[in-house]
Amino acid sequence: MGVVPPRVASSSVDFDLSPELAELQQTVRRLAQDKVKPRAREIDTTGEYPVDIFEAFRAADLLGLCLPTELGGSGAGILGLTIAIEEVAKYSNAAALMLLLTRLPVGPVLIAGNDDQKQRYLPGIATGELRAGFGLSEAVAGSDVAGMRTRAVPDGGSEGGWVLTGTKCWMSGVVEADWYTVFAKTGDPSSRAHDSITAFIVERSYPGVSVGRTDKKMGVRGVHTGELVLEGVHVPAENVIGEVGGFRLAMLGLNAMRPIVAARGIGLAEGALMYATEYVQERQAFGQTIADFQGIQWEIAKVAVDIEAARLLTYRSAWLADQGKFGKEYVPFLSMAKYFATELAVRASGLAVQLLGAAGYMEDHPTELWYRDAKQLTIVEGTSQVQLGLIARGVLGRDLWWD
Ligand SMILES: Cc1cc2nc3c(=O)[nH]c(=O)nc-3n(C[C@H](O)[C@H](O)[C@H](O)COP(=O)(O)OP(=O)(O)OC[C@H]3O[C@@H](n4cnc5c(N)ncnc54)[C@H](O)[C@@H]3O)c2cc1C
Repeated sequence: MGVVPPRVASSSVDFDLSPELAELQQTVRRLAQDKVKPRAREIDTTGEYPVDIFEAFRAADLLGLCLPTELGGSGAGILGLTIAIEEVAKYSNAAALMLLLTRLPVGPVLIAGNDDQKQRYLPGIATGELRAGFGLSEAVAGSDVAGMRTRAVPDGGSEGGWVLTGTKCWMSGVVEADWYTVFAKTGDPSSRAHDSITAFIVERSYPGVSVGRTDKKMGVRGVHTGELVLEGVHVPAENVIGEVGGFRLAMLGLNAMRPIVAARGIGLAEGALMYATEYVQERQAFGQTIADFQGIQWEIAKVAVDIEAARLLTYRSAWLADQGKFGKEYVPFLSMAKYFATELAVRASGLAVQLLGAAGYMEDHPTELWYRDAKQLTIVEGTSQVQLGLIARGVLGRDLWWD
């Protein structure tokens, strides 16, 4: 007699999008085709911030996807934003970054901020009246955030609060932002302990805040990346996010971002594969189309498999994040999505360039632009190596185990 399997009354796994999310996907797909696709090359060439795209997102109510309805958002969650970004990234990763920035600096406030902070800084993100930036990296401290030099010292004046001094770098959206989530050392500057770091909300209008140099980038042009300079900036005590030394809680915001960054990779890979597939089905060589060669078909098939694998990893990680499951035990799943989808973007766009041959290398086609854009995805918000480290830590620590 074999072991009798337990009876399974119902299945709780559902791979369908809800009707609301399916409708969101269709709406953003149309918007991306109509408004983003025709502008993608121009945004890259001019490097100018695409105000028209921001306005299109605002008109379509896409700026508050990740915010709860009580803060003026649509409550579509991380999964909703993930799906929207996937559609936009099929054509422009700069435009996709504009949507991502509705969550990256907002995350720490949503997770660790108090009601007053949420009311003051978040509804304006949903309406498009406010934009924000995220200041973690410094020239000497990227992956190694504990090495940051920006300092916050208690303000000895009658008002209390803090005085921030330092320079944040490579900040996306730094020029357009109205407020910033900024991380600074409040403890011993030489300490590498996470509780020596605190997150603050810093308004652009505070005296001593300025934008330093902006970077000349390989890709994702149009949304400026650059320095935020803080010269003795007084920040009121009520702008501390969470508590002093509360870096760990604020950092949970970054964990919840993984599927959103992954979506930029998936959309880019989908756009590149579709474009290259259409091309090789037309292009003639050796008396047939390039798509008739089995070797080419296998390359297309391999990337198609990876796209679907990346979508499964990413949608699941978005679903986890929406349930508040972005703590230590879920980190490997979130990191896997980011790692796999962004590496895929480089692979898929590289294949697209290759399949178009010389044409793919020229600006007549978007393939070279996608290839340049893809590379930043494996660097931002935790490099591929950092994600692999987090996944490995999960396995070694048994958070990721199959027993
Ligand atoms: C276009 C763009 C936009 C950005 N936007 C923002 C933003 O809005 N806000 C912000 O705060 N930052 C932003 N960044 C910065 C980004 O987060 C950092 O570049 C990233 O964290 C890596 O830091 P780093 O560049 O200093 O590289 P480093 O940390 O110096 O790493 C260099 C190399 O060493 C590897 N490495 C480092 N540590 C390890 C390790 N422990 N094990 C194995 N390999 C390791 C890395 O993977 C990488 O390959 C942006 C960067 C870019 C390119």
